[in-house]
Order: sequence, then C-alpha cells, then structure tokens
Amino acid sequence: MKHKERGWAEPLKVEGMADDHTHILSIPSFAEEEGASPLSPEEIWQKSREAGVEKAIEVACEEKYFEEAAEFAEKNAGVFYALAIHPIEALAYGGEEGYRRAFEKMKEVISSHPKKLAAVGESGMDFFHADLSTLPFQRKALLDHIALANDLGLPLQIHDHGAHREVFSALKEGGAKKVVFHSFSGDADFARAVCEEGWYLSFSGMVTFKNAKDMQSALLASPRGRILSETDAPSLAPAPYRGRVNAPWMLGWTLRFMGDLLRLPAAEIAKITRENAQAAYEAWR
Ligand SMILES: [Zn+2]
Repeated sequence: MKHKERGWAEPLKVEGMADDHTHILSIPSFAEEEGASPLSPEEIWQKSREAGVEKAIEVACEEKYFEEAAEFAEKNAGVFYALAIHPIEALAYGGEEGYRRAFEKMKEVISSHPKKLAAVGESGMDFFHADLSTLPFQRKALLDHIALANDLGLPLQIHDHGAHREVFSALKEGGAKKVVFHSFSGDADFARAVCEEGWYLSFSGMVTFKNAKDMQSALLASPRGRILSETDAPSLAPAPYRGRVNAPWMLGWTLRFMGDLLRLPAAEIAKITRENAQAAYEAWR
C-alpha cells in the first residue's frame, strides 16, 4: 500500500492574501483525525497571518458553530464571519420545523454580533450528497437565504455542488443582488453567465487539481475584477498537498497556481483577489 502523507502541510508565503471562505473552527478536530499536531483556532490564524493572509471570512453553516464563529471574528483582527444553514444541514433537520428554528437562531446571532459580519453563507444546493427529490426544500431554503442577504445588504456565499442550473435560476427568481460562488466548480460558460450578473467567483484549492480543466478554463474566461480566492479549509488542500489538512496558510499554493495560469506572479494575483474581496465585502473596507 502506498504510504499516505499525514499531518500539516507547508505554507507558501505570499504577502497580502485574502481567504474569503474558510472554516478555522473545524480545523482542529479534522487535524486530530489526520494525525497532525494540535493547534488551537487562534494558533491556526496566527500562523496564517505569518504566511501573509491578511483577512479571512470564517464561515459557520452549522448551528453549533454560529455563536463561536461570531465571537472568534470579534476576538481576532482580520477575521470576519458569515452564517447560513448549509443545504445538507437544512435537510438534516428532517423537516420544516427544525430548520425554521435554526434559521431564527441564526438571525439572533447575526443581530447580536453585527460588527464583523461580512456575508450570509454558505447556502445553495447540493445534488452530490442529496438526490433530486430534495430540490423543492433546498430551493426554498436558498430563497430564504437570498431574502436575508438582500435585507442585510450583504453578499450571499453560494454552495453549488452539481447544481449550477438550479442554483442560478433560484438566484434569479429570488432577486439575489450580491453573490459569491464559493469554491466555484463550473466551466467557462457558467463563469461567464455568473460574471454577467455582476457576481463573483471564489476559487479554492480545487482549481489546482489535475482533473480540474473546466475550472481552470473558467478562471481564464473570467474578468480579473470578478475573481476571489479561498481555502475552504479544512478540506480541499491545494496541490501539491491534495488530501492533507488544509488551513488558510495554504492559500499561497492556490494563488501561485492561479498566477501561473494567468501568467502573473502570485503576489499580483493575491493583490487582485484581495482588492476584489474588499469591493465585494463592505465589512472588509
Ligand atoms: Zn465551506
């Protein structure tokens, strides 16, 4: 059997990076399972700052992390937060009632922690982990999140796993204004359609994978003013560390790959995605 490398992977330092979608609070338990030495969320953020990550959005899309994410952002310079009920989580409540209660809880946390709230997210649709029969419920939950983001005047971070068309049509139906496709997984045509709406594409470590030709062509087809960068840690560690524990300090590997594709130095693509994030997320300015 091939030996699988475990534990933390090496950071690639690039100045001025912006990670617009990460789950730092979920990293420690994931790291423990992978046999990495223990680090607290604060230590993970500190190490990420040393690697050049200036700002990050901590995304909590499970009820148990709502309060903690808001507080983590309040206590750590450069960290902002976003809340939503992930489509798969929404389904896990097994019905309208539990989901509604969680949605109200989310709104309470948002209103009691207004300062570092950057976005609503991640909401969307997933037909990879759920079957098509769940479409009506997933659509309804997404429409709730669109309305909330519009009310708050905040961008909505979208989770789209195997649901490009369904998500796009719900966004149009719900009149979504500010939208970021997190960990964009579409092709060049879909990227163009998203950009035409004035929305953003956030690229994760997935774009570095060998089989990600569609995403790479999406990046090449996107106007420079529409692209963002993220880790989605603890999963989706970029090449050459695919499969390892991910953390915001790994963002440099993704930016270097994106830069190579666009024939730009990593520092330049870091600057582009950072400035785009500042334009997309008012809380970051
Ligand atoms: Zn995520």
